[in-house]
Amino acid sequence: MIIANTVKDVRDVVKEWKRNGLTVGLVPTMGALHEGHASLVTAAAAGCDRVVASVFVNPTQFGEGEDLDSYPRDFERDCGILEERGCHMVFHPSVEEMYPEGYATYVNLESEMTKQLCGKSRPGHFRGVCSVVSKLFNIVDPDRAYFGEKDAQQLAVIKRMVKDMNFDIEIVGCPTVREDDGLAKSSRNSYLNERERAAATVLYRSMERAKAMTKEGVSDASQLLEAMRDVVSSEPLARIDYIEAVDGETLMPKEKLAAGDLVAMAVYIGSTRLIDNFTVGA
Ligand code: AMP
Repeated sequence: MIIANTVKDVRDVVKEWKRNGLTVGLVPTMGALHEGHASLVTAAAAGCDRVVASVFVNPTQFGEGEDLDSYPRDFERDCGILEERGCHMVFHPSVEEMYPEGYATYVNLESEMTKQLCGKSRPGHFRGVCSVVSKLFNIVDPDRAYFGEKDAQQLAVIKRMVKDMNFDIEIVGCPTVREDDGLAKSSRNSYLNERERAAATVLYRSMERAKAMTKEGVSDASQLLEAMRDVVSSEPLARIDYIEAVDGETLMPKEKLAAGDLVAMAVYIGSTRLIDNFTVGA
């Protein structure tokens, strides 16, 4: 596996691959890799001739007081996981390589989409995500890019951006990988102590309750959301940021749920903010 630290190194390798007619898949990550990330690499390796993963903790998507400095980093371990899953090149740039002095251009969706759900408590987050993902698209020039459904709003926002900006890239969404007890795998799970880790299953438990209700034919969003809030509120260590039901594409709130709609949540367990979601009828 090639380790590239500069834009030029990535471009030189990708150009050679493309000259040979090979297709390229991109998996953007912030490192601290787990089975969720690894599943994206596996999907990319199955769908493309060559796989590039990026490992970059992107400062522009973190807000004031968020965990930019404490975000877990273990590049050597990440490389082992990537190589084992068939990644051909890892792009591991410095902050200066991505945002050199004088950097001034950002990609921002002028849409209600980025103001819903996580956008409410993380203003500027999707501006940072769209900017760094656009840069990665321009640097790597992939045929396909792989994103997790765990970050459902991110996936919807990136699909919108790709359409709007005419990126000639297929966006592939991959299912959420979970721990045995249902907790969605996340680099931030490492912040949880033992008691918090046990409490964190409340997100999945509340979603299971809602899924069972939709199967029984309940389509009234307020009824479902209330049931989910009841489950989460029963856990003393949990504090709800939001639990909402929205259209799966536009992310605008829905009152009557139909197949394809998204039920998404963010919950603090202690001081750790966890997100999860499910698609109705999936
Ligand atoms: P991150 O490193 O958190 O920025 O995530 C990088 C990519 O991995 C994003 O596309 C995430 O949606 C995806 N991802 C993170 N956790 C999971 C998971 N549990 N299952 C599937 N994909 C995930």
